[in-house]
Amino acid sequence: MSQDPSDARPQSPITPVKLDLDDHFQFACHSQIACFNKCCQSIDIQLTPYDILRLKTRLQISAREFLFRHTVPFEMDGHGVPGLKLRTEGESTRCQFLTDEGCSVYEDRPTACRYYALGLMSMRKKDASTDEDAYFIVKEEHCLGHYEPQTQTVRAYRESQGVDIYDDMNREWRQVVLKKRSCGPTIGKPSDRSLQLFFLASYDLDGFRDFIGTPSFDEVYVVAPQEHEQLMQDDAALMRFAFRFLKQSLFGEMTIPERPGALEKRLERRRARTAEAPGEAAGR
Ligand code: SF4
Ligand code: SF4
Repeated sequence: MSQDPSDARPQSPITPVKLDLDDHFQFACHSQIACFNKCCQSIDIQLTPYDILRLKTRLQISAREFLFRHTVPFEMDGHGVPGLKLRTEGESTRCQFLTDEGCSVYEDRPTACRYYALGLMSMRKKDASTDEDAYFIVKEEHCLGHYEPQTQTVRAYRESQGVDIYDDMNREWRQVVLKKRSCGPTIGKPSDRSLQLFFLASYDLDGFRDFIGTPSFDEVYVVAPQEHEQLMQDDAALMRFAFRFLKQSLFGEMTIPERPGALEKRLERRRARTAEAPGEAAGR
């Protein structure tokens, strides 16, 4: 199961025909089919922030533990923007969550598993202010679902797979990723700090919660006590806040009030520390 719809090369399993929500396609997957579970034997699944939230909640572990146990890092582009893929079992290509009965995390399976055998690609046309979603059929040899007689619209398939909440929760994050990719070459390589922030706010939700509880966050940002309380308890609200924070830190899209002059003061302190560092090193 692989899911990069931008990979529509001649050898690629992706059928290079763009489908819209009301277009029909032929496909059905069920437990009686001869290829049952074959797609989960060889996986290449990129995880979204909401995938991680759902899976870590299901497994009742922290985000950090989930990242450590169940993911492998990769770079999403030439600038080193960090991505995460689902870890396979041992040295195999098999999904860790696969059992003889099927997927052991089915109700919380990742977005890519829900979409399969469709691929999703979000694009923004030049001068457009919103993204456009396009769908593609992913036709892999082992998958017999394409020969089942059932047809449905993309809209009906998405609904049957419970994709909406996933797309809704990840929408702002995808916008950040698209924007980072599209403005990458013009603003040069992102700083290490911006990549770290991206990782923290995208994937390590519990770490991000710790961060917004620190005095240094409070020194710069104004969050009403009631909202702060909600962020401390509600993962979904925290995730939405994390994406706002990313847009603000990376692109200056201001939605979280900042204390006047606080950021400048902090930057000044950091610059002073950096300037002092060589002297300190020599002293040591
Ligand atoms: S998470 Fe479930 S559906 Fe997705 S690849 Fe693993 S076993 Fe298959
Ligand atoms: S029909 Fe395709 S998606 Fe369904 S179990 Fe078979 S290989 Fe997997």
